[in-house]
Amino acid sequence: MMTAATNSYVPRLRPLRLPRVCVAVIGSDPAEMMQKAEALVRDNTFLEFRLDYLSRPALALPKIKQFTEYHPHVVAIGTCRRASAGGKFRGSIASQLDILTKASAAGCQLVDLELQSAARCKPGQLQRLRAHAALILSYHDFRATKKLEETLEKMVALSADFYKIVSTATTLHDNVRMMKFLEKYGDQHSLIGLCMGEQGIISRVLGVRAGSVFTFAAVSADEKTAPGQVTAQELRNTYRIEQVDAATRVYGVAGDPVAHSLSPAIMNAAMRRETVNGVYVALHAQTLKDLLACVRDIPIHGLSITMPYKESIVAQLDNTDSHTTKVGACNTVVRAQDGKLYGFNTDTAGVVRPLQQRITIEQSKILVLGAGGAARAAVFGLKERGAEVYILNRTLGPAQKLARSARARLLKRADLKKHTFDVIINATPVGMGNTRESPLNENEIKARYVFDMIYDPPETRLVKMARAAGAEIIPGIEMFVHQAARQFEIWTGKPAPWDEMFSVVTRTLADRAAATAAKNGNSEKKT
Ligand code: NAP
Repeated sequence: MMTAATNSYVPRLRPLRLPRVCVAVIGSDPAEMMQKAEALVRDNTFLEFRLDYLSRPALALPKIKQFTEYHPHVVAIGTCRRASAGGKFRGSIASQLDILTKASAAGCQLVDLELQSAARCKPGQLQRLRAHAALILSYHDFRATKKLEETLEKMVALSADFYKIVSTATTLHDNVRMMKFLEKYGDQHSLIGLCMGEQGIISRVLGVRAGSVFTFAAVSADEKTAPGQVTAQELRNTYRIEQVDAATRVYGVAGDPVAHSLSPAIMNAAMRRETVNGVYVALHAQTLKDLLACVRDIPIHGLSITMPYKESIVAQLDNTDSHTTKVGACNTVVRAQDGKLYGFNTDTAGVVRPLQQRITIEQSKILVLGAGGAARAAVFGLKERGAEVYILNRTLGPAQKLARSARARLLKRADLKKHTFDVIINATPVGMGNTRESPLNENEIKARYVFDMIYDPPETRLVKMARAAGAEIIPGIEMFVHQAARQFEIWTGKPAPWDEMFSVVTRTLADRAAATAAKNGNSEKKT
């Protein structure tokens, strides 16, 4: 039986509803730390001063006092974590307590003390620390997510106002463990729980849904104080964390890697526009088994499946529609109320819809380059709509197999020049992430339209050559938005806000290109 410590909030905090996102403020000296805090208060009302990042933390305290007096609406945490507990403070526990006591006197309404230090304090010392601030008793596990209940049991033996357990996720399922823990004990204690690490990103968003009082965020992408930390802006704007509640449906994109997926940006924007109470996260699944265990337990309402699981997931689903079965690849999963998983392939819609807006597909002569999952979605979808489809692939075997099963024609590269097409579709990754490679040579592009599934970069070598050859371009971004729009429709039953989705993706890609250019420019200057 766990003994519950009395949750005596400091009176000053009682009327406050703490914001969902606390931003950790770090700096190399007090002036820099305060400069950052000043820049942050406009958008963030909940700050954690990481005093342990300063070589002389005490010097920051008068400045923090000024700051809290000047910004009375800000809730501040004072933290001075010792090096032995993962922080940077090298002083004794006595001097740590002294700094935290002074931090509370300087206006920090909350102070954070790690279990390792607290366990070595006398009860009177902890009581004194709580005289003017609420105490967050914290525990960090930098390796794993395990023994959460045992840790909490040790923690609640000490009186505190909040109990914070931060673990490290090495699998997706570790997030589930953390969420179940929060759900189970969140009613008894004021808990803050999350998993660090890239695999733990979802716990930052879903932790508050499961009962974590708040979560932590980084100021910017390069100022993260813990691995896997998401920026405050992302948590608020992309994930709408202030609105996430127990009724919020969870969706996600699963793959390996997924860190650069555009899907969270586009899907969360669509949900916001259509006021769907849902949140869409990136699930970095290193194995299909881990993904499926996580999906069964979270419960996830819908999934986008990306590389490398589009094919292997099909056998794990309870059912797929006949088109998806034929294609043998699934990019959309719906979890029904009975827990069963149903698979669809919306890559086909991603190919068909942009074409339907431009041509009559029936009897059009279309060349598909590639014979992988995306090519198969295109070939079957186009054949079903009466197109005359040709397949050209680097390796003969898969092309032959696809041509046979879809009743399409096989083309040898040597024969390419003899043909003119209505549309050439690139369904290979050639040209992805670079502008040097193209799956075709200039003299092989004879078509009214060239449709490159690659959207990053938007101007591939193939696109440039095709434009120069007089072809009209169908950009890969259209496919991306159409397949996402169809997923949205399947999951929500609402028409997708196409224009909004298109502009979010265009903007995100442009921002990324600008960031990469700036980074390259900087590194060139440095060298
Ligand atoms: P996949 O299943 O791995 O298939 C890749 C295909 O490309 C295979 O047929 C492979 O030929 C061929 N290929 C790979 N490298 C090649 C090279 N260096 N030269 C010539 N052919 C090569 O991949 P996928 O899922 O079908 O995806 C294909 C592309 O479509 C990717 O770039 C993906 O990003 C893009 N895509 C875009 C969207 C969108 O929304 N815009 C959606 C889905 C996919 P072999 O048989 O010889 O290996």
